Amino acid sequence: LTDPLFTAPSEPLAVLKSVYGYPAFRGKQQAVVEQVVAGGDAVVLFPTGAGKSLCYQVPSLCRPGVGVVISPLIALMRDQVEALKQLGVNAAALNSSISREDYGAVRRALDAGTLDLLYVTPERVATPGFREMMANVEIALFAIDEAHCVSQWGHDFRPEYRALDALRETFPGVPRMALTATADPHTREDIIARLGLEDAAVFTTSFDRPNITYEIVERDQPRRQLLEFLNRHKGASGIVYCLSRAKVDETSEWLNGQGIPSLPYHAGMTREDRDANQDAFLKEEELCLVATVAFGMGIDKPNVRYVAHLDLPGSVEAYYQETGRAGRDGLPSEAWMAYGMADVVQRGKMIERGTAGEEIKRVERAKLNALLGICETAGCRRQALLAHFGEAHPGGCGNCDTCLKPVDTWEGTEAAIKALAAIYRTGERFGAGHVIDVLTGNETERTERFGHNSMPVFGAGRDLPVKTWQSVYRQLLAMGLIRVDHEAYGAMKLEAEARAVFRHERTIRFRSDRPTRGKAAKSASS
Ligand code: ADP
Ligand code: ZN
Repeated sequence: LTDPLFTAPSEPLAVLKSVYGYPAFRGKQQAVVEQVVAGGDAVVLFPTGAGKSLCYQVPSLCRPGVGVVISPLIALMRDQVEALKQLGVNAAALNSSISREDYGAVRRALDAGTLDLLYVTPERVATPGFREMMANVEIALFAIDEAHCVSQWGHDFRPEYRALDALRETFPGVPRMALTATADPHTREDIIARLGLEDAAVFTTSFDRPNITYEIVERDQPRRQLLEFLNRHKGASGIVYCLSRAKVDETSEWLNGQGIPSLPYHAGMTREDRDANQDAFLKEEELCLVATVAFGMGIDKPNVRYVAHLDLPGSVEAYYQETGRAGRDGLPSEAWMAYGMADVVQRGKMIERGTAGEEIKRVERAKLNALLGICETAGCRRQALLAHFGEAHPGGCGNCDTCLKPVDTWEGTEAAIKALAAIYRTGERFGAGHVIDVLTGNETERTERFGHNSMPVFGAGRDLPVKTWQSVYRQLLAMGLIRVDHEAYGAMKLEAEARAVFRHERTIRFRSDRPTRGKAAKSASS
């Protein structure tokens, strides 16, 4: 900043106005900035779009020395550096793609003390070269962006973040900030403990996105259900997430055939094709982008009207982040998901077959169950979702499916006992499909082969339809009364808590399954 206008006292609000042209701070930005300008540490837990970048950029400009921003996203780094340069801020990035000359220029600027902001990857910070480079440089602050990456509880654990705890000893007295849009209590505690931020001030804002309507339906005819949903959003743009590349391609093609303009996006496409489809999505008014989770990071399209999930997301955090891409402009938007037991089984299999250690697998299982709990709740979805992030919400939001159309529940203790007994009697060796065959008295080759059709439990559940039993098993799983053993081909097993149900010490209410819902659902078939 060489303009004499800017060499005046570096007061945060003056910097905000003169450099960025914004009249005022938003929400808790000012409190964060003041904490760090005064030399304190900070943990900043703001949802996406709340304005975390200014929280470290402004103090970097106010304090003497260079602000060091640690970020894992090279593309985002590049964008920010470009934007800052346009504002007249002297910013640079050091990452694996930097040329020798650029590296030399950065080093000279550091030594001359003319750099305002330096973006670096966590890998680089861990090198001895970084310490040596910064040894005689005045540092305004360290900002650790995407700080949830330090935690195995986050959805994006990166081991190189673990080394960042050394900053405190290597550069004593330099304020440190951790910033993230992921704020469930486990991740929060992990960030504070792993990065040694016990004395930091913690800043949070509500994670509620009141303009997003949440709806989660049971998947029975996914294409028809998706079409009904998309027909409520004619003329608008949105994202449909699928788990596999093949499903992305098939779904996108099929939607075009149904008269819904659609393009695919996944990591199996060429870079040019992906970029072209992303650009089209950013520009077009009416386009349904069918994508894997490869799409979305750093995308800033304000008028995304809907986000649909045809498969269960990876975790509650992932669900929150993916659905959070809807309605950035504050206008009413919808987050819709269709899911079934098969998702839960498949996801569980992925966890068990993964190469991760037992500790990580345990975390993964707990995350899957947390997500299932939100899918199967009979209460307000928003309340359940926010509770996951440690935020109390009174419920009854009036803007989720369970609030808009309260879920009927039914006294299900007897049904639960039958469902549990069917698992027990067949030896805890079978998945839901077979056990439901036994319960409903459906003679198959397998019931015959295992002699299950001559058991007392065979046909004991004829009074309820197969769909209801599927729902019962999903809810028993969400309640922690059974588990699915993926080592044993998805066999359902009883948990210790099931005993209380058998003994009539615990009563059970189930939510009624409502396969087809929707405000203005017009169904062509069925
Ligand atoms: P986050 O990193 O929390 O997702 P960003 O830092 O990218 O959010 O900010 C989101 C948008 O809000 C950006 O376009 C930014 O310029 C804008 N913004 C942030 N703070 C303010 C403010 N005080 N006044 C006006 N616009 C702001
Ligand atoms: Zn609600």
